[in-house]
Amino acid sequence: MIPILAEIGRIVGPGQVLTGDAVSSRTRHAWSAEPLEALALVRPASSGEVSHVLRLCHQHRQPVVTHGGRTGLSGGERATAADLVLSLERMNRIEEIDPAGRTVTVQAGCTLQALHEAVDAEGLYFPLDLGARGSCTVGGNIATNAGGVTVIRYGMMRAQVLGLEAVLADGTVVSSMNRMLKNNSGYDLKQLFIGTEGTLGVVTRAVLALRERPSSVCTVLLAVDDASKLAPLLRHFDQRLGGQLSSFEAMWGDYYRAVTVPGGHAAPLERDHAFYVLVEAQGADPDADAARFEATVAAAWEAGLVTDAVLPKSRAERDHLWAIREDFGPIRHDRPMFTYDVSLPIGLMPDYVEEVEARVRARWPGGRFYAFGHLGDGNLHFVICPRVEAADLHEQVDAAVYEPLARFGGAVSAEHGIGTEKRAWLHASRSPEEIEVMRLLKRSLDPHGILNPGKVIPG
Ligand SMILES: Cc1cc2nc3c(=O)[nH]c(=O)nc-3n(C[C@H](O)[C@H](O)[C@H](O)COP(=O)(O)OP(=O)(O)OC[C@H]3O[C@@H](n4cnc5c(N)ncnc54)[C@H](O)[C@@H]3O)c2cc1C
Repeated sequence: MIPILAEIGRIVGPGQVLTGDAVSSRTRHAWSAEPLEALALVRPASSGEVSHVLRLCHQHRQPVVTHGGRTGLSGGERATAADLVLSLERMNRIEEIDPAGRTVTVQAGCTLQALHEAVDAEGLYFPLDLGARGSCTVGGNIATNAGGVTVIRYGMMRAQVLGLEAVLADGTVVSSMNRMLKNNSGYDLKQLFIGTEGTLGVVTRAVLALRERPSSVCTVLLAVDDASKLAPLLRHFDQRLGGQLSSFEAMWGDYYRAVTVPGGHAAPLERDHAFYVLVEAQGADPDADAARFEATVAAAWEAGLVTDAVLPKSRAERDHLWAIREDFGPIRHDRPMFTYDVSLPIGLMPDYVEEVEARVRARWPGGRFYAFGHLGDGNLHFVICPRVEAADLHEQVDAAVYEPLARFGGAVSAEHGIGTEKRAWLHASRSPEEIEVMRLLKRSLDPHGILNPGKVIPG
């Protein structure tokens, strides 16, 4: 065995350093069948073990890629045969739920769904939610500053993190396990590790803010026939729901049609509308909330903002509406496929989408273009399948999406992060000075560049 691996084996114990088939029998990504490549995969059980492993890697200049649930969509989790993968899968404990303080203390390898279930059992609620909930981890959510489907009401992961513990490249454990909502005692160091995709430290534990569990959830799927009505529709719901609006998710017509083909999801609304919007509100008074929500839907209809609507009558029907938005199974196997995650002011979205779609259709007439996303957050996703092969196809599709974006004042990543996928386009959303400060932070905290090398910051 390579000497460093033998030493790491002594730190993490028998069976916790995987090599050879034990590595390649795993997949590179939760969505991919491609085998994982790595020098070894290490499974520490505590922050102390992470610290000892990183100290050794720092001394030996050994590159390390941290893995949570491997559901990231920017390539941040990608490893090469020279990298040591540090998987936090054994650090998945919920250490404490404090109902009075409304906090949960959790290890970074806990899945989002396990966290939801544990706090729900205490009558509490952790609002961050996204389609990959069953696999993605709290550490990954922090490292990517994940967004998801409730950001319009509760903010992104950053807004949920009260405190965290991270291990620096040289093994130093920085424990900032603050439990208070307010704490302005000097620099807020946890921000260094939120949204920095494992390039400045390994998140090992966190204190997260909880809310009271909502006792009412009202949902509607709407059909909208004109792009100019999307922004007014958002204002309509927000004005009338008095702070209860929790999701405002849009699907362009081609996306809805593609996921409701025969064999896909059943279509609850006719398939020929231009746009579909899934709206949800959470409250604490089921009867009054339902009445207000239905009145708001009716008023949208009377104002001519929507042309059709379906209100689910059961939990199963609600889940079905969400599956249409979140599970794009029917188009998932189209290859080559490129996914995007941009943000821009909501009022500019229809024009921007039209321009990108026109570029894609002109360049790849047989291709597919789908748009959907967290419209209420100014966040759009594209799935683009050009249905041709070319060596520089990815670069060409990137250019079709990102070239017009700067003109619209948008960002190349709204919530998925930069990873490797958008590194070459970071300059489109960040100034040279901002990128230089990122380099400065990276050099200061990880002088040998061992943590997630080649990710986020252009070389
Ligand atoms: C079906 C589906 C739906 C999705 N929907 C959304 C969505 O709505 N909103 C959204 O924001 N994202 C979404 N994503 C993307 C993804 O789920 C998130 O980025 C998630 O936060 C990644 O968590 P993970 O544990 O899988 O991290 P990984 O994929 O394992 O890693 C992601 C990045 O974080 C780093 N990392 C992981 N754990 C740690 C740690 N403990 N310490 C330091 N660095 C770490 C990795 O090195 C990598 O750079 C979706 C993905 C899928 C597959």
